[in-house]
Amino acid sequence: MVHFVGAGPGAPDLITLRGAALLKAADVVIYAGSLVNPALLDNCKEGCEIFNSAEMTLGEVLAVMERAEAEGKTTVRLHTGDPSLYGAIREQLDALREKGVGFDVTPGVSSLFGAAAALDAEFTLPGVSQSLIVTRLAGRTGVPVGEALRDLSRHGASMALFLSSGMLDKVQSELLAGGYAEDTPAALVYKATWPDEKTVRCTVGTLAASGAAAGVRKTALVLVGGFLDAPYEKSKLYDPSFTTEFRKGRA
Ligand code: SAH
Repeated sequence: MVHFVGAGPGAPDLITLRGAALLKAADVVIYAGSLVNPALLDNCKEGCEIFNSAEMTLGEVLAVMERAEAEGKTTVRLHTGDPSLYGAIREQLDALREKGVGFDVTPGVSSLFGAAAALDAEFTLPGVSQSLIVTRLAGRTGVPVGEALRDLSRHGASMALFLSSGMLDKVQSELLAGGYAEDTPAALVYKATWPDEKTVRCTVGTLAASGAAAGVRKTALVLVGGFLDAPYEKSKLYDPSFTTEFRKGRA
């Protein structure tokens, strides 16, 4: 059996209880060494075989899983954040299904939520934005037509950009071309929840210069939108005059 597990954004205690238990019981662990905090591996059992997938091809990863399966062993495939976001898990799941190897997936705390926590931010502020766009700038991996950053920017929604902090000039020009104003709040969060976490608050118009000044190029998220710093409406849910299924409103 192969367990795909979300490691969380960095801090070792942000893996789920289920993920931690699976990791502790694993005979073989394949972790995404470029981003998963190695401190998580301290809890692996003695004799556990550990592989760093940053140095492996898909074929090599699958070969380790298949061999472990043949030996009746349990494998944990540890992905950063939540595996469903830019995790390249689908190709692994499909290959395992084809080979008849059983698997399951345990979700994790995405770095997108680690970054929001670092900024004390709420993505979905009433009167500001009720939508979060999770995307990336086209790089060596392209994005489909209709999902160009400039096109998604037309919504003015809260936005979280993965895999894009190395191209901040382009990010900035695309956000502006799409319709965010120069003074729209923005932020960079480097290594959210790690000990060396760094946050940089700026605006869309100063994004590239702020990133360069702070030396942030990789392992960072770009967050954009009024949710970072704008007047908002209080929620209806906790408004004393608002009746809900659980509480009667008072005039
Ligand atoms: N599945 C992961 C994302 C993997 S893609 C998740 O849910 O978080 C890798 C990208 O994620 C990086 O280029 C960076 O943009 C972002 N990232 C991962 N960990 C991060 C962290 N701790 N802080 C900020 N950004 C991070």
